[in-house]
Amino acid sequence: MSNLRKKMVMNLKYGGITKEEYEELQDEILEKDRSSLQMTAICLVFMFTGLFLGSLVNNLMASNRIAYAMLWLCFVILYLITKNLKKKSKWLVLPLWYGAMTYMFVYAAVLNTIVRNDISATTFCIIMIVAPLLILDRPWRVFSYFTLVVLLFIPMAFHFKNAYLAFTDMVNILCCLFLGTVIHFGIIRTKLWEMMQRRYIEKQRDTDNLTGCLTKAAFENQMKQCLKEDDNTGVLLVMDVDKFKSINDNYGHTFGDLVLHTFGQNLAGTFPQSSLCGRFGGDEFVVWIPGILTKKEITEHLDELMGRIHSIKTPDGKIVITSSIGIAECPNNGKTYQELFENADAALYTAKNLGRNRYVFCPDMGKGI
Ligand code: GH3
Ligand code: MG
Repeated sequence: MSNLRKKMVMNLKYGGITKEEYEELQDEILEKDRSSLQMTAICLVFMFTGLFLGSLVNNLMASNRIAYAMLWLCFVILYLITKNLKKKSKWLVLPLWYGAMTYMFVYAAVLNTIVRNDISATTFCIIMIVAPLLILDRPWRVFSYFTLVVLLFIPMAFHFKNAYLAFTDMVNILCCLFLGTVIHFGIIRTKLWEMMQRRYIEKQRDTDNLTGCLTKAAFENQMKQCLKEDDNTGVLLVMDVDKFKSINDNYGHTFGDLVLHTFGQNLAGTFPQSSLCGRFGGDEFVVWIPGILTKKEITEHLDELMGRIHSIKTPDGKIVITSSIGIAECPNNGKTYQELFENADAALYTAKNLGRNRYVFCPDMGKGI
């Protein structure tokens, strides 16, 4: 029984997935809401353009001319806002969605009661069915919002219309509320399930099985994306395990694999969460740390990493595992992925030539640290 209740709460709160999974998908959900709101706004702009033009030639529509013009203007503004919404302002998408729906409901309520009190509330019902098809949000919030809208509309209908029409409106709208929320629930469940599946497949594709780091292609793509978004600042580290061939030769491939696995795990544990860690095949690893870092901060991270690597023990404890690292800073040592990689790789080469087990910054490659 308590399991069933838990399931129902999960369905109502997060569309059938867990809170953590929902939060992981939050950005993608907001992006889908942003694009559907943009599409809805442009459709409404066309619709109200048509209605406004109609009101210029048709006397029956003339009394609505100002309302059409105002609605047209509002949806043009809404379109422009949603089109130019920055990543940091994505949280605005849902308030905008609910704001736009409220605006349409108010328009429909006035139209279907005060302006025309002799016809059924068809426009109101249409919005009630169509809106839940377009918005992706937590089912309980959508349900609460629509219930509130219905509770406000029904007294209006009884106040402005005759009892028979008001009663039919009430029945129709309650049916639409039921249908709309059921449709919304079905859609959000399917969409979330699809997103989760896609995420899982992408994760499998982008992750190196042995180390848990990104594959070369995924690292390159994500770093290029970061370079576009993060004001072009960050640090690229290219690293290679020293004398790894002899570790394989002396202790076997299985132990070599264990070293690579531990190395990858240590990368993820050492650098900030926003960093990207990749394995470029063999014993070569790369890390991209976005943002502005001082030399001191970088060396602190690298000293911690070196310490962790040194603590990987060979079975007989004879060899200490070490790594050489080349460092390129963006924008000082390059602005594109290619430039940064070439410079960090050259610094790595210098570190190897200087005797391994060290890190070398790009501009002062000759010195080593
Ligand atoms: P250096 O200090 O110059 O880097 O010397 P090195 O011996 O480490 O030379 P290099 O980096 O070229 O050696 C990489 C070795 O990594 C060669 C290959 O046998 C081994 N290797 C590549 N992929 C794997 C893997 O998945 N598992 C294991 N155990 N070894 C691998
Ligand atoms: Mg090596």
